[in-house]
Amino acid sequence: MESKVAIITGASSGIGEATARELARSGIKVMLAARREDRLALLKKEIEAKGGQAEYRITDVTSQADMESLAQATLEAYGKIDVLINNAGIAPVSFLRNRKVDEWDRMIDVNIKGVLYGIAAVLPHMEERNEGHIINVSSVAGHQIYPSTAVYSGTKFAVRAITEGLRKELRPDQNIRTTIISPGNVASELEQTITDQDVFSLASQFANLTPLKGEDIAAAIRYAIEQSTSVTVKEMIVTPTSQR
Ligand code: NDP
Repeated sequence: MESKVAIITGASSGIGEATARELARSGIKVMLAARREDRLALLKKEIEAKGGQAEYRITDVTSQADMESLAQATLEAYGKIDVLINNAGIAPVSFLRNRKVDEWDRMIDVNIKGVLYGIAAVLPHMEERNEGHIINVSSVAGHQIYPSTAVYSGTKFAVRAITEGLRKELRPDQNIRTTIISPGNVASELEQTITDQDVFSLASQFANLTPLKGEDIAAAIRYAIEQSTSVTVKEMIVTPTSQR
């Protein structure tokens, strides 16, 4: 793990932030990406104070130019990219009848296009080196659809399809791994993006659920990375034990 370099999108909170800490603790050099600079700067400082290596780049994953600059900045800082973790995502879930069209657009832009732009930014470098690892964060909602998650689930199904498609396109001798991480309920800032009042009335369904911590998903991501390069963890579905 000592010499690896990982880019983590959505590193300013939740799963991405916990993953940055976890990977840095195990000796991986991390490049933190998100829009909120204050959060990224604080995290970089914290990681460095504990002896880790971190850089950050303000990045909007919906901008292809930003994603290309992120890859470039990582190469300038560390000389290579071993792992890309496409984790940034939003979940303003809503009932279709409430026509939150702007929120559908944003979910598609962040959750699908962001992942594609990430792949586009690092794949040429990984193909040139003949190694690499692309980890895309989907969701249990990328396996099942619930009332209000039609669009969010659509984006997370797409993340799984894109990851599988990439894996099948890569030649066996290319030594580039792909992993889908599908979390269940995790305590984070994610639900702050919800504006649909009809969704809040559903919240009682989850009242007895103890959510996971970002650290639980970070441990799964670390597991996928630390396997020998001849081993691919294709997908991990990680949920609270109480989640059905
Ligand atoms: P958070 O809301 O805590 O974190 C989301 C992260 O995404 C933030 O760091 C945010 O940073 C970043 N982000 C959002 N939009 C953009 C953008 N346009 N460009 C760059 N970064 C962006 O949520 P989680 O940690 O819970 O979510 C992480 C991933 O896990 C998401 O893909 C989510 O769908 C998935 N997931 C989460 C589950 C949960 O229960 N929490 C369950 C299943 C999957 P900033 O605002 O600073 O840009």
